[in-house]
Amino acid sequence: MSFESIRGQDHGVEVLKRALGRNRLHHAYLFAGPLGVGKERTARAFASALLCVQPTADKLACNVCHACRRLAEGQHPDFHLVERLEKNDGGTERFIKIAQIRALQRSLSFKAYEGERRVVLILEPEHMTESTSNALLKTLEEPGQQTHFILVSAGVHRLLPTIISRCQRVRFGPLKSEHIIHLLQQSGVHDLDLMETVARLSEGSVGRALMMLEEDIVPLRGQILAALDADKNQPLSEALDLAEDLAKPAQRKRLKQAFHILRTWYRDLLVVKMGGERRQLLNIDEHARLTNRADGLSAKVIQERLKRTGEAEVAIWERMANTRLVLESLFVFLAGRVPMELSQ
Ligand SMILES: [Zn+2]
Repeated sequence: MSFESIRGQDHGVEVLKRALGRNRLHHAYLFAGPLGVGKERTARAFASALLCVQPTADKLACNVCHACRRLAEGQHPDFHLVERLEKNDGGTERFIKIAQIRALQRSLSFKAYEGERRVVLILEPEHMTESTSNALLKTLEEPGQQTHFILVSAGVHRLLPTIISRCQRVRFGPLKSEHIIHLLQQSGVHDLDLMETVARLSEGSVGRALMMLEEDIVPLRGQILAALDADKNQPLSEALDLAEDLAKPAQRKRLKQAFHILRTWYRDLLVVKMGGERRQLLNIDEHARLTNRADGLSAKVIQERLKRTGEAEVAIWERMANTRLVLESLFVFLAGRVPMELSQ
């Protein structure tokens, strides 16, 4: 993994290259920015440069020495990855466990195997309980010789301030559509119209764009709009069927996409309602439909729908509420079947 493969993150990459070139390295970095914009990729490229035993004149990874190769194969003994574990049912644990941090501390108490440096990559450190965070903090405070931590987070606001203050922050912004399209092409996508649509809808995240393609987001959007964004005389059964379907455990990824669709849809309706321009739309391919729908809804109603959507998301993903009940009541509301005064 090298910095050349990173797209659209010139600032962050430059900061890291300069630190490597001058050998002025911090012992802990926090790569902060939205999901799916290249933070982990950059972290791995940085780790490679740190661990390479035959670096270039600029102190970048050679990508051919045994250290670079072992790292690429996930076999480097001085590279430690900490992330949420997979559960037996294929899902992901809600938290990084304290036992994982303790195991890391044990490994770090030994000498480095290969060279002098060690790298610890921690993905999603915001998914830690307070006691786990405090255990990590201890390690960050006494890292031992030549140990470099890279924390990769899309939820910095949920980290302990004491952890943030220990780290040098490197910011990652959303990607431009052209970069997303380039990366999608590299991963074998060819349909240009589709790529342009998901690039806009992804709000600058190639990770999200890929997930959208995987979940067939365009047909899903059609299905959601048919059920929820139709006229009031339509039976509610379609909305309720959709709620039942999306509430199934096997549909978790699809449900995430469904929420994203709803959020971008109401956001776009507001843009149209406020007289925004076509180029500001995320669902730019649905411009005509948006204009039409915005005519029939007040800004207040659209805002309320956006708000309810956000609340339902929090209820499901953070408060672990009953997914089906939350979706049913949300969809009935979004379908415009509950007068706003009565539903509050
Ligand atoms: Zn190398």
